[in-house]
Amino acid sequence: MTLARRLERLGTETAFAVALAAADWGSRGNTIYPFHLGDINIPTAPHIVEAMNRAIADGKTGYCPGAGIPELREALAEDIGGQRGIEVDPGNVVVMTGGKPVITKFIQTVMDPGQEVLYPNPGFPIYESQIEYHGGTAVPYRYLPTEDGFRIDLDQVRAAITDRTVAIIYNDLQNPISAESTPEERQAIADLAVEHDLWVLSDEAYFEMRYEGESSSIAALPGMAERTVILYTFSKKFAMTGSRLGCAVAPPEVASVFSTLNTNDESCTTHYVQWAGIEALRGSQQSVSDMLGVLRSRRDATCELVNAIPGMSVEVPRSTFYVFPDVTEAMERVGTADLGDFAEQALHATGVSFCTRRHFGRPVPGEDRHYIRLAYSGIDESAIREGLGRLG
Ligand code: PLP
Repeated sequence: MTLARRLERLGTETAFAVALAAADWGSRGNTIYPFHLGDINIPTAPHIVEAMNRAIADGKTGYCPGAGIPELREALAEDIGGQRGIEVDPGNVVVMTGGKPVITKFIQTVMDPGQEVLYPNPGFPIYESQIEYHGGTAVPYRYLPTEDGFRIDLDQVRAAITDRTVAIIYNDLQNPISAESTPEERQAIADLAVEHDLWVLSDEAYFEMRYEGESSSIAALPGMAERTVILYTFSKKFAMTGSRLGCAVAPPEVASVFSTLNTNDESCTTHYVQWAGIEALRGSQQSVSDMLGVLRSRRDATCELVNAIPGMSVEVPRSTFYVFPDVTEAMERVGTADLGDFAEQALHATGVSFCTRRHFGRPVPGEDRHYIRLAYSGIDESAIREGLGRLG
């Protein structure tokens, strides 16, 4: 017996391996300062949990429609459309088990083997994995550090489009860099998509995780609604990472395929969790603003302490819950040129656990600076201060 050959092309989210290494180090009596996972150590709001319990008690425990219950699709259409200033019909909304399946189903729907998809690198590692697993070529585009933060290298995006390119993945409010596009950059990506007739996956997982300014969706630009799939998730905004609830907003022909794929893959998203989703969207939003307040304070502490460490520097991001410091000089100070070694030394010497640039896509030739990602969503401010103090 053999396993399928295509598994050779399957990647993964290696941040989970960092979590295992940290847990192992912790189990040997060491204090761990967990900056590695984009999970949230703030519980789901009580009114959302109550709605979930009520739904279970009310018997919402059987199968339901593959595209999601109509009440949730309606609430999502209203919320997502309203926040982005676009018209969303409930028929365009397909409920899924989190945001991640939207990536897989998007690739399965728009790409044939041998075709190319552009994706951000460093970026969420599942893009690269799913494109290659499904027989495509994952074509990276990068972000350039500038005086005004990280900017998409638009010249590289332009140069990378070929007659085999079918889609571009765009993640504004970006993981791991926390980069944000200017309106001009967003328009430039939209213009390229229209000019070359490309699909766009707009990964909006962090759309509401913002401390300053306003988020905008590429789907709201002229000519984009018919070619854009929005990835929406309850994971971050409502601290519901383990409940697995999200959706795609897609043009009708794509939404219909997604719904059929859901029926093939999961039958439906967990029925009672969907009722909790309605409460999350329509109930009090106080817990969301409270959480953003806590995260903002953690962000400020993280950036202040990172910038106090000789050889590390970072700008204060306006969104997400990640910082992506340049650690090139700090690595020289501790005498290593290898990011993996640097992270291991940090864990063993101080208990501080983090992912590095290497966990976010294959390194692109020509990169000469080294970066790590610190996620402050899963660690209290007192531990942030203690951990980064030790790291310094
Ligand atoms: N997209 C990005 C950019 C993410 O960072 C994540 C999770 O970390 C996801 C998608 C997937 O989120 P979910 O937990 O909803 O599957």
